[in-house]
Amino acid sequence: MINDTIQALTIAGTDSGGGAGVMADIKTMQERHVFSAAVVVAVTAQNTIGVADFMAMPEKLIDEQFKAVADDLKIRAAKTGMLADVPSVKAVVANLKKYDLGPLTVDPVMIAKGGARLLSEDAIQTVKQELVPLATILTPNLPEAAELTGMQIESSDDMLVAAQKLQDMGAKNVLVKGGHEADDNESSDFVLLENGDSFWMTSPRVDTNRTHGTGDTLSSCITSELAKGKSVEDAIRIGKEYVSATIEQGIQVGHGHGPLNHWA
Ligand code: PLP
Repeated sequence: MINDTIQALTIAGTDSGGGAGVMADIKTMQERHVFSAAVVVAVTAQNTIGVADFMAMPEKLIDEQFKAVADDLKIRAAKTGMLADVPSVKAVVANLKKYDLGPLTVDPVMIAKGGARLLSEDAIQTVKQELVPLATILTPNLPEAAELTGMQIESSDDMLVAAQKLQDMGAKNVLVKGGHEADDNESSDFVLLENGDSFWMTSPRVDTNRTHGTGDTLSSCITSELAKGKSVEDAIRIGKEYVSATIEQGIQVGHGHGPLNHWA
């Protein structure tokens, strides 16, 4: 009885190296015991060393993937990741409005750790205006939060203000990921909930280069837990614990920024 399984959807770009994007999402959802479906928005040629090339899917194919999933499956939660360019962001937004896919986690992916731009500059405005207001949970890292708010984010106080701005832009709940702060021994994330409650989540910074796909893993773990019916706060806390565990342990894959291990 397939419709009794807990099903979640990733709407994102692929990673031929298996570490990030749709591949990380599927592995994470599987680990969280959730059936994963995927709408592929872009295909990248990449490995642990970097992104060599990518191409966004034609809008028609994006539409058809959404329709195929919505016609047959019973998606309980969805996430967006790499969305590439303005036409594909617009196609994704239109389909998110058309189909009920449950709570939506928006990971506003912009630039890969290796420096490759995964969202065109002109699409940032479209994400701000059209996608952020659809987010049940928005999960920017510090550079993404800065781009979306137009702020310089240099302190914990700035993170707080940025989260509030992002909520004012329409995201119901906001998780600002502090992992990109340079100077610290720990990584602190700030969460602002829909009801105005807020909290910090802190974990020791792990000295490793195996962090490729961290954001995807976090947002797809959160999505899996939302699909199971967990509260936003619980889903975020479980996501954070899961990512910390997968960063801490494991083996190296490839020659660059190794991916996380999803059998944590
Ligand atoms: N490739 C794809 C398709 C992604 O979705 C992402 C992140 O969201 C990345 C690459 C970047 O991964 P990272 O910055 O963790 O190396």
